Amino acid sequence: MLLLEQREQIVHYGLKLIQSGLTTGSGGNLSILSPQDNLIAIGPSGMDYAEVRVEDVVVVDRGGKVVAGERQPSSELNFHLALYDARPDITSVVHTHSVYATTMACLHWEIPAVHYLVAFSGKKVPVADYAVFGSPELAANIVRSIEGYNAVLLANHGLVAVGKNLAGAFNVAEEIELVARIYYQAKSVGRPVLLNDDEMDVVTAKFVGYGQQDSARSKAVRSSGVENEPKK
Ligand code: 13P
Ligand code: ZN
Repeated sequence: MLLLEQREQIVHYGLKLIQSGLTTGSGGNLSILSPQDNLIAIGPSGMDYAEVRVEDVVVVDRGGKVVAGERQPSSELNFHLALYDARPDITSVVHTHSVYATTMACLHWEIPAVHYLVAFSGKKVPVADYAVFGSPELAANIVRSIEGYNAVLLANHGLVAVGKNLAGAFNVAEEIELVARIYYQAKSVGRPVLLNDDEMDVVTAKFVGYGQQDSARSKAVRSSGVENEPKK
């Protein structure tokens, strides 16, 4: 079966999206680019993650043409394709409707350096302008906003995270949801004190050697791309 390993990962992380509460129902989606095949495995549109099997995952070429699979690919195929074109450093995209990140997105508030874990995105999480889901306009808005970051809030919609592999992109989505929640809570009771650029540079440098070099968790942190040169 074409891209079997990538399809298995889409099924596995789709379940994790639900189990970790990062999305509900068929909201959100996942994809993996296989650079050697120049093909993308992407989840099917509108299916419950608990029901998605490897044969439901769709394989498309870089132009979005279906090359394997019977299902309709995710309605957000446009932005998955656009992100792989714009970011040669990534091979995975995770989209969620996680509640706290989406709350910020509905306010059109960026997430600033309120907690050092914002480094999973960069020095902040920017907001992409609103456009209806699935549209080429939404893809263009995301590509414009994500330059120099690994996560972007989609106004009135949700979050997109990218990474060097699916574990890394998932990790970005999970950590940014935590930071969004902390920001929301801190804002609810007071005025959060933000970390400055120099402090964030120190965090970014420190993440490069974080944890046990051979542990899955540390590998996921490193493959989240936190060591990417963040935008100032
Ligand atoms: P799909 O089920 O088509 O992937 O769409 C879910 C979604 O989150 C749209 O933004
Ligand atoms: Zn969505």
